[in-house]
Amino acid sequence: EYKKGYIVDYGIHALRMADNGAAASIFRMLGENLEIVEPKESSLYHEGEWSELPLNLNAIMSSPLFSKEEINELLGGLGGVLSAQPSKYWDIPLSRWVEENFKSERLRWFVKEILAKLLLISADAGETSTGELFDIIQAFVKSGKGAGFAVGGWRSIIERLSEIVEENGQVRVKAKVERILVKDGRVEGVVVNGEKIKVDTVVAAVPVQGLFKLVEEKWFSEEFIRKAKGMKPTMGISIDYGLATKACEYDTFMCSDPWIYGAATSNMDASVAPQGEQLLTVFSVLTPSIVLNKERAKMELERIEKKLEEMFPGIKGNVKWKRTLILGMVDGAALTVTQSRDKRPGPETDVKGLYLAGDTCNGRGAGGDIAFNSSSNCVDAVLRTM
Ligand SMILES: Cc1cc2nc3c(=O)[nH]c(=O)nc-3n(C[C@H](O)[C@H](O)[C@H](O)COP(=O)(O)OP(=O)(O)OC[C@H]3O[C@@H](n4cnc5c(N)ncnc54)[C@H](O)[C@@H]3O)c2cc1C
Repeated sequence: EYKKGYIVDYGIHALRMADNGAAASIFRMLGENLEIVEPKESSLYHEGEWSELPLNLNAIMSSPLFSKEEINELLGGLGGVLSAQPSKYWDIPLSRWVEENFKSERLRWFVKEILAKLLLISADAGETSTGELFDIIQAFVKSGKGAGFAVGGWRSIIERLSEIVEENGQVRVKAKVERILVKDGRVEGVVVNGEKIKVDTVVAAVPVQGLFKLVEEKWFSEEFIRKAKGMKPTMGISIDYGLATKACEYDTFMCSDPWIYGAATSNMDASVAPQGEQLLTVFSVLTPSIVLNKERAKMELERIEKKLEEMFPGIKGNVKWKRTLILGMVDGAALTVTQSRDKRPGPETDVKGLYLAGDTCNGRGAGGDIAFNSSSNCVDAVLRTM
């Protein structure tokens, strides 16, 4: 009710590579068009100054962040990234690769704190998979697109996909799967809200960490159980603001310290806020040591809000409503060296007829891209058995 007139996603929900990205390609596969808006500009707030976020050649060349030598070094380094085979770098921690490949401290900082945080939601470059970063940079460059936002928010994606499913099936909401029933290593049904439904194919699209709440461990290999239970998610703080007037002129922006990515979604898509008002969402990726510690999380939240007031003077007095989320899971899988794409589970499992999809599975990209891409992989796997 307090968000009346607003359409609010669960925090920022950008679509990497906009209409060349994973969600749009699923829609195309279904013969549909997903309406996506793209930010006109993306700005960086660093040490009290605003400049264009250096994510394309022109912005890199004119960025006040880098000297001439650094621009040359950065372009040389990025050239190497584009011609590299990501799979050779899955196991290399980003901080090590950066130390070995950039002389300039500024460039090391840029790759770890700006690029990796923005593209991969990486909280700790010491654990982040270099191959995952290479892969996503290559995908972005090939697509020629940056971020996009679904018109009407992700609700429009989910509602349309549900309608399509309902043409040949049924979507049940508020229906909790309590058990996945397995007999002799084969799926034989599910229990939903106490009702037993006989099926021979189940796609568990829940974070894999929670799979064994639904199905007995005895059907799976020890290796799979260990990996699934130990999968580390990304964490962070997300704040949505409903603002009485427009406080942020940028469509999307980033702040280097504290690290914040923000989107004034209503600048791009007027349908998500009442006329004259603004929907502004900010997100900060953080380590578990901060998010899981109440005091530290509270301090970080205060630091973020103080910085926003510095970036957008007067914003505090403009807030009609706000929603703060301190999140122990943002993306189901952090893209670390031990959880790079090659190490996350594929669609097939040890149980016949039980498949996996979602952002803890093997799929290209990060977060939502993995969810969409792993779903395509899952469909292919199910169809192969038919
Ligand atoms: C604040 C925030 C911001 C984000 N921003 C972005 C972004 O900008 N771009 C991006 O790509 N990604 C973003 N993400 C990540 C993205 O939301 C996830 O990667 C994506 O939603 C994962 O989709 P999924 O289908 O794998 O899992 P989920 O979205 O987690 O869906 C799993 C579903 O399963 C349901 N479920 C669980 N257990 C059961 C059960 N027993 N029975 C029935 N249903 C069950 C859950 O209710 C849930 O609806 C963000 C996430 C958060 C939290």
